[in-house]
Amino acid sequence: MYQYVNIFEELIKCVGKDSILLDDNKKIFYETDWRNVFIGPSIAVVFPTNTREVCQIVKACIKYKVKITPQGGNTSKCGGAVPINSKDKHLIVNLSRMNTIINLDKDNYSIVVEAGCTLSQIYKFVDTNNLMFPLKIAAADTCQIGGNISTNAGGINVLKYGTMRELVLGLEAILPNGELVNQLKVLRKDNVNFDLKQLFIGSEGTLGIITKASLKLFPKPSGYFTCLIGVEKLIDCILLLSHLKSNNIIPNSFEVINKTTQAVYNAFFTKIPIESNWLILCEIEIGLEPKLSQIYGLFDGVKSTDIVIASNLKDRDLLWRIRENIPIAEKLYGNALKYDISLPISSIIEFVNINGFELNNTFCLAEIIIFGHLGDGNLHYNIPFNEAIFTENTAELVDKLVYKNVVKFGGSISAEHGIGQLKTTWVKQFYDKNSYNLAKSIKSLIDPSNIFNPGKVFGL
Ligand code: FAD
Repeated sequence: MYQYVNIFEELIKCVGKDSILLDDNKKIFYETDWRNVFIGPSIAVVFPTNTREVCQIVKACIKYKVKITPQGGNTSKCGGAVPINSKDKHLIVNLSRMNTIINLDKDNYSIVVEAGCTLSQIYKFVDTNNLMFPLKIAAADTCQIGGNISTNAGGINVLKYGTMRELVLGLEAILPNGELVNQLKVLRKDNVNFDLKQLFIGSEGTLGIITKASLKLFPKPSGYFTCLIGVEKLIDCILLLSHLKSNNIIPNSFEVINKTTQAVYNAFFTKIPIESNWLILCEIEIGLEPKLSQIYGLFDGVKSTDIVIASNLKDRDLLWRIRENIPIAEKLYGNALKYDISLPISSIIEFVNINGFELNNTFCLAEIIIFGHLGDGNLHYNIPFNEAIFTENTAELVDKLVYKNVVKFGGSISAEHGIGQLKTTWVKQFYDKNSYNLAKSIKSLIDPSNIFNPGKVFGL
């Protein structure tokens, strides 16, 4: 039998030379994370076009003891999709060429896709069929369904539709031994054995490569009530949410934007039409129930400083563009310590007050960018770097303070962005020890040689 001389020869044989990138100047794009914080060298980037090629790539990596970083759109905010810096050899397996929509089943409200399909591609496809896929995030044009599943992505519609976990019906994945696991059913009920697909959802590429997925679809709403409301205090945001829920209205989105975030946004984009201590971007799908008149009634008498209601789809897009461009404005504003946290809604005010007080008291840090999905208790809580205040280990001390308070108030140190390589130290400190050990045992069982995404989630 022909013996390959090295992994490159073997990879070229399985994917063809046009599907492997070796040039350092071109590779760097895939080796650098979205925030430009993490850069991890790779021996090559490969672009498989089907599941069989993925199997062969994994088997070649086992043979040549090369580590694998699965990569989707590389929009991870915690360095999850680029290799770590280590003495091991790393191969990036980018799924972008596996972007076929395999099957739409209208009666079953489901779709089967390859893992490299972008979210936008799926939106467009189902929209033309009068259906909707509800996972909505600002990186939709770039991020891929495999990445969304691996990070259990959340976004702006979680309040009504849940996170990615609730939207996956099945998947197909290649394990670290190069074998294929087929869990690609389109069933809403299936109680045979353990629900193994759940292992891969949110595992951040540490257990294998997801190659295909089947997803739940929903009827396209007949319209939307979308508004931007200004309120004086955070409590007013929470009261409005409770008011809607107690009237049986579950908004699909309920986003908040604090005053600092508004200023950061206004510095780079067209000024937000209203200004207040807190802005709420609220969206409710309309249909037979609830009717638009019902919703207007509920907003009558709400304690607000100002309100803009979208009267057509163009206005709606303009309001959403504000929310979607906040991460871009923030990136342009400069480096920041970023926290993607979730808390019980009942504890959010206390957390914001106490944490803000302690940050100011201990580190003189008063500028805090707060925005995010208040409706599901998820805040993006970011502290811009301040060269004058920050010494070498300030960042670590600030992290510790924030996470201590998050845990104190019953929250999570990672709501939707995952752990990647950014938060591995903190998971060990702030996650239940036995749960951590159990997760690590599962990783060791499935990937005993630690081939997949070493250094992520569990650290080194
Ligand atoms: P990547 O960044 O490429 O990878 C993410 C992780 O998944 C890595 O660990 C990688 O190894 C693994 N992975 C990727 N593909 C596969 C695969 N096929 N099989 C196995 N493992 C794989 N996230 C939210 O949850 N909600 C938001 O609202 C949100 N908004 C964002 C807005 C902006 C502007 C940006 C830049 C990011 C945002 N994110 C958000 C974060 C990010 O977009 C999500 O985490 C997204 O799900 C990542 O998808 P991706 O294809 O880019 O994955």
